Amino acid sequence: MQEFIYLDNNATTQVAPEVYECMLPYYREMFASASSIHSFGEKVGKQVALAREQTAELFHAYPDEIIFTSCGTESDNTAVRSAIETQPDKKHLVMTQVEHAALLSMGAFLEKKGYEITYLSVNRQGQLDLEELKAAIRPDTALVSIMFANNETGTVFPMEKIADIVKSKGTLFHVDAVSTVGKEVIDLQKLPIDFLALSGHKVHAPKGIGVLYVRRGTDFQPLLLGSHQENGRRAGTLNSPTIIGLGKACELANTNIEAKRQHMAKLRDMLEQGILAQIPDALVNGDREHRLPNTANIAFKGLQGKDILLALDKNGICVSAGTACSSGKTKPSHVISAMGIDNEYAHGAVRFSLSRYTTEEEIQKAVQIIPKAIKQLEQK
Ligand code: PLP
Repeated sequence: MQEFIYLDNNATTQVAPEVYECMLPYYREMFASASSIHSFGEKVGKQVALAREQTAELFHAYPDEIIFTSCGTESDNTAVRSAIETQPDKKHLVMTQVEHAALLSMGAFLEKKGYEITYLSVNRQGQLDLEELKAAIRPDTALVSIMFANNETGTVFPMEKIADIVKSKGTLFHVDAVSTVGKEVIDLQKLPIDFLALSGHKVHAPKGIGVLYVRRGTDFQPLLLGSHQENGRRAGTLNSPTIIGLGKACELANTNIEAKRQHMAKLRDMLEQGILAQIPDALVNGDREHRLPNTANIAFKGLQGKDILLALDKNGICVSAGTACSSGKTKPSHVISAMGIDNEYAHGAVRFSLSRYTTEEEIQKAVQIIPKAIKQLEQK
């Protein structure tokens, strides 16, 4: 296989070796359904229960607040659907303009059904105006949905302040923490959040597993109806191997989180400084003070993100232009557009996202390759 320098970890991450190893028996000899009451099923059920504890531990949540889903998108969709169906008289929602498509598409769908959505704006750093949030919440607001950190720029929102505002109004609060988990400490004992979404494949667990956290006592309407898995909150035979893998991934993410953060931040800064030293008119997008430690969004003047992506790909470097989901489109991403980045930069934004597995050697190579590729594109 060709060797890549993989700097696209906000799109997806490699499965951690420990996660892979611990899943394998559950595809082969330990294949029973975790819900079966025979002793074979019970053995698998015990591992699933452990995975639920490991997952809950990562956010200081209770295991019975964890619902395993198929992905972050399902978790986001379920939270929104539940909020509107348990409060049928409320026809208004608040989101930000920079949410992931998993929420913006729900917003568009609900608008067609007659709901009103307020999309909060962001400033040039990608930060929210908390006064705008306060003013947006109304008595008929069914849900406020705000991501913990932005997946394109890494900008981290002031979640304590936001949660306090939302809860002071008595409104349900959903947080998309898909890009945040494992990179920031999230303590749900301290943060009054009602729903929180995470996705396994962003934290070195496999694809096809997600989590919706639902705070104890929150009214809940399942999205998938059928049998009684997950205490009747999400039907479908449990995907036990990936659940067990996710539990391990959460345990690993929870170990030495500060050291992992520092490792990623050090290499991210090295990458950023290395590029800026050679391309001084490049622009770093996002809030540099409040940013995920693994993310750098850099805009290159007068270039197209897609051309940069392809040029770097030829050199064995994987990055993303806009979000992974909107790669291929030539429009600036909705996040960059919402931030009001000048046109000459907006099209040339590239996201570099590292993981705890990224090495200094990879970054040193990337710092040699990227500016050269950019200069070649500039001369075209
Ligand atoms: N939310 C955010 C912030 C994301 O970055 C993503 C994926 O890119 C999702 C939700 C969707 O997660 P999944 O791919 O697991 O459906």
